[in-house]
Order: sequence, then structure tokens, then C-alpha cells
Amino acid sequence: MNYVIVDRGDQLSKELAERFHTLAAELGLKRNDDQPEMVISIGGDGTLLQAFHSHIDRIADVAFIGVHTGHLGFFADWQADELEQLVRMMADNEPRIVRYPLAQIDLVTDEGTSSHVALNEFTIKGVDGTLVAQIDINDELFEMFRGDGIVVSTPSGSTAYNKSLGGAVIHPSIESLQLAEIASINNRVFRTLGSSVLLPQHHHCDIISRKEQRLQLAFDHLNMTRSDIRSIRCSVADHKVSFARYRPFPFWNRVREAFLGYDVK
Ligand code: NAP
Ligand code: MN
Repeated sequence: MNYVIVDRGDQLSKELAERFHTLAAELGLKRNDDQPEMVISIGGDGTLLQAFHSHIDRIADVAFIGVHTGHLGFFADWQADELEQLVRMMADNEPRIVRYPLAQIDLVTDEGTSSHVALNEFTIKGVDGTLVAQIDINDELFEMFRGDGIVVSTPSGSTAYNKSLGGAVIHPSIESLQLAEIASINNRVFRTLGSSVLLPQHHHCDIISRKEQRLQLAFDHLNMTRSDIRSIRCSVADHKVSFARYRPFPFWNRVREAFLGYDVK
């Protein structure tokens, strides 16, 4: 089996990556930086987001494994002191592959459309003040938004930014997107639902911002400022991201351990 490691760059993560390479070579796993089957992220959830985006072109051909070196990560199943166990599992066992939905975000400009994918969420904010946008669901006007911004999250991203905004935590088997508001202003002109909305797999929404408004867009941790956007289409992506599991770690156990701290073993 071929693998690559993406580490956070701190001392502990780098040391663990070196140890992994040594153990892996002994057990016959092959390091392959260009065409890996397994992408091992060593660090935090942010490291897994980086690993995801750096392998986006081969997303259908890779599976991710997370090792956490700080506090318990949401995407990371393995602790630093379990590294040897992980390498042995990888050498001896077939993993179970679990697939989580992604968000597809199409940016429509006068020049054409560009597509982006997010593992956690897509975020839109105004740069020079509040964001003003019309939100359509399935090509019909839904609401007129004015406020700090909108977060469109995947189920696995529902525990990230979305959760801080009071959005629901969604099981990744529910192929969906969640729209959560960041500080919406409500008056006679701009009126929003207020609660977050869950769109099923076959629905889409468009965020139609005012012409030439400067927008701060983010796909997970990747930010850009744009002023050429006409509208933004958000939908559940056709393809998913794969995680390799060598032992069960149910989603609700992750939620419990990450946020509630109860360690049931
Ligand atoms: P960061 O500022 O280090 O991330 C913020 C926190 O979110 C970190 O504790 C991170 O864990 C955690 N996190 C990331 N993905 C998660 C997930 N799926 N479930 C639960 N927690 C998660 O920046 P970053 O590491 O580059 O991560 C980017 C993410 O930060 C964005 O995708 C967004 O979800 C989140 N964010 C949150 C807020 C907010 O809650 N107010 C604001 C902006 C961005 P690690 O420490 O393990 O990396
Ligand atoms: Mn981080």
C-alpha cells in the first residue's frame, strides 16, 4: 500500500512522521508522495483540511487517516502513542472505507463558472460592510439576507464553524448542506428565517450578491477576496471524501469525546 504524510509542521508532528516512515518501511508500506492511496494527516483537524485540499485532484483515489498531536481531533482517530498500532493495522488489515459528503460551490462570473469543493464549509462575508444577498432555493426566491455572512456546511463540517453559529450537528450519512446565518439584520426589507436550514442532496441554493460587492469567500481554511461574483451555487457534491477506518469510531462518539469530554472506553 502507498501512503503519504501531511504533518502540521510542529516538532511533535514532524517526529511522528519520521517514526511512521521508519515503522512503515519495516512493515513493507511504501511512501509515495505523488500517487498515494492513503493520506495520513498528523496534527489537528486543520491539518486534515490541508491534506484534503492538497489531494483534491485525486480525491476519488485516496482515503484519509488522521493522527492527532494536540487535543482530540474531530477528523483524527489515532493518538500519538498509537502510531505503531496504526502502522501494523495498515500493514495487516483491510480498512473499512467510510464516505462523507462534500459541498460543491460554483462561482458564477461574467467570464464563466469555477467549481470548488469544501470538506467543512463554504463561508461568504462582505468585505466593506455587511453582506447583502438574495438567497434562492431551487431557483426560487427564499429570502433577502443582510448581515455578517452565511456559512454553508457539510455534515462533517457541522461540528466546526456551523456549530459556533448554533447550527445543528448532522450525521454524515445524511447527504445534505446546512445554511447557517452569521448575525443577520432583520427589518422590513431584509428578512431571514433566522434558524439554520438543511438542504437535501437533490436541492441547491444560490447566493446572489449585489453587483461588484467585495466578498470574502472561504472554502474551509482557504480564503479569497472577490468582486466579480454574480452568484454562487451551493449543492451537495457528486463525489465524496473517503476515510480509512481500522477500528470503529462512530460519529456520535466523536461528538461526545470532542465536545462533552466523556471518555467511555
Ligand atoms: P482554526 O482556527 O485552527 O480552526 C478552528 C477550530 O475548528 C480548531 O479547533 C479546529 O481544530 C476545529 N475544527 C476544524 N474542523 C473541524 C470539524 N470538522 N469539527 C470540529 N472542529 C473542527 O483553523 P483551521 O484549523 O484551519 O480550521 C479551519 C476551520 O475553522 C474552518 O473550516 C471552520 O470550520 C473553522 N472556523 C471556525 C470558526 C468559529 O467557530 N467561530 C471561525 C472560523 C473558522 P484543530 O485545532 O484540531 O485544527
Ligand atoms: Mn487548526
